[in-house]
Amino acid sequence: MASTSRPELDAVIIGAGWAGMYMLHRLRQIGLATRVYEAGDGVGGVWHWNRYPGARTDGEWMWYSYSFSPELEQEWSWSERFPAQPELERYANHVADRFELRRDIQLRTRVVGADFVEPERRWHVRTEHGEVVTASYLVAAVGALSAANVPDLKGLDAFRGACYHTSRWPREPVELAGRRVGVVGTGSSGVQCIPAIAREAAHLVAFQRTANFSVPAWNVPTDPAFEREYKASYAEHRRLQRESTIGVHWSHANLEQSALEVTTDERTATYEHAWRNGPFTLMNSYKDLSSDLRANETLSEFVRSKVREIVRDPAVAEVLVPTTHPIGTKRLCIDTGYYETFNRDNVTLVDLKSTPIEEVTERGVRTGTAEYELDVIVLATGFDAMTGALERIGLRGRSARSLSVKWAEGPRTYLGLATAGYPNLFILMGPGSPSVLGNNFEAIEQQVEWVSACIAFMRSTGAELIEATVDAEDGWVDHVHELADRTLFNLADTWFNGRNIPGKKGGFTPYAGGYRAYREECDEVAASGYRGFTLSPRPRDDPS
Ligand code: NAP
Repeated sequence: MASTSRPELDAVIIGAGWAGMYMLHRLRQIGLATRVYEAGDGVGGVWHWNRYPGARTDGEWMWYSYSFSPELEQEWSWSERFPAQPELERYANHVADRFELRRDIQLRTRVVGADFVEPERRWHVRTEHGEVVTASYLVAAVGALSAANVPDLKGLDAFRGACYHTSRWPREPVELAGRRVGVVGTGSSGVQCIPAIAREAAHLVAFQRTANFSVPAWNVPTDPAFEREYKASYAEHRRLQRESTIGVHWSHANLEQSALEVTTDERTATYEHAWRNGPFTLMNSYKDLSSDLRANETLSEFVRSKVREIVRDPAVAEVLVPTTHPIGTKRLCIDTGYYETFNRDNVTLVDLKSTPIEEVTERGVRTGTAEYELDVIVLATGFDAMTGALERIGLRGRSARSLSVKWAEGPRTYLGLATAGYPNLFILMGPGSPSVLGNNFEAIEQQVEWVSACIAFMRSTGAELIEATVDAEDGWVDHVHELADRTLFNLADTWFNGRNIPGKKGGFTPYAGGYRAYREECDEVAASGYRGFTLSPRPRDDPS
């Protein structure tokens, strides 16, 4: 018998970022009583939490935005090519208001456990406030990059100054003017915040473990004529976007030619042009930059030459020149004045490869060769990506099996959307889906629409449960690894393959076959009546 003492919902969604908000909108449209739980005190997910100085998208507004509502597309105007965090948060709030989402979103409420209760065939979801609700469907929209990686630095608790992780930056302004600031980490977050903080701080010390490739964003204010023109044919742009490999359509992408087919001069001219046109043009200059090491090396070397050109002190430049991985195998950073920042008098670069951090002291950071006195430490140290936030929910499926136990050797999903033994659990932007390997909005909308169509199908056919089969899941996990093996991605230690977290297992987790192939695969599965899933009707003798 179903529990009578607990509120019963059709669906619970965890997370009110881009995925959770759109999922709520769609589930409402098909008539489901749905509640969203969000740990933060506002909507917007990643753009609610990552409010560090310099935070801005590295996707252009034309495609890094919702496409499901033509009215929304027309009425919202973005002020810059790469909008900054405050504008993205305003957009999230606008969407929440415009589609009246707030009445079903409970903020400041972290989900601390969710159990699939087999006799009831429902999920029991527990919040940090002791509330328990039950739901037929559970959607995890917790984000691929939301569980912060706080490094285990000896003595960090003893530091007397202020310490912030970039993804937990406070809402209140942080006083940086006149202060000595240390930034640990030089991935996308570090590359964005280092120039912004250096402009304010008395002194900035950048602690770099691995030099990363970064290319200039060339951010500019939105040109009203361009905006008018683009919006006039938005539907066509979106169609091309949906058919592309990474959820972005570039007419200038060169998908035909190898970087090795052309002369050195021709290639250099192409890269020079692409460098001035923006980050995505560069990685798409030739068809084999992500799959052929020799082709990739031509671009890697071009960007290294740019670093040496920009940074005036040759010794500093050599520390900044990336040598440990091919370009694009760690996610390419996109910056505004990153390398130029190391020409400032108030910036020091510390190479942790030659002199690692030994401990954090009361006064600052001590490496093998020096102690850096600091007022503020910024941890730009990234995330336990793809799986961290999912495993931290405390999900238990059939036989009370915990997801983190099931995934101890690496995540196992079918289509990235479901995992065997966890009926009616849908995962958005999860491991085994293209997720982070392109335009997140495109990935989110495709998955949300697939999930809502699946639930509508279940309701119209009387199916109560849907569950991935072990065989389908095994096949999918192998497929995801095979696709990764065709790329260069595993040549770097990154959050893509979990090697940024000591001891984490599982290998490369996103689906590297491209958005288009993934969409086709998901559509075929649905058209076949959900091949690879078991659909079960409500038992005849069930009185509930
Ligand atoms: P990240 O790319 O994982 O970079 C983390 C940095 O911290 C790396 O430089 C890493 O060094 C360093 N680090 C980690 N642990 C350390 C330790 N114990 N000691 C010293 N250094 C340590 O994380 P992120 O910069 O937050 O970016 C993660 C992803 O979020 C990005 O790739 C991107 O997808 C997304 N993001 C997007 C934007 C945007 O859209 N604009 C902005 C920020 C982030 P190693 O390389 O040696 O591990």
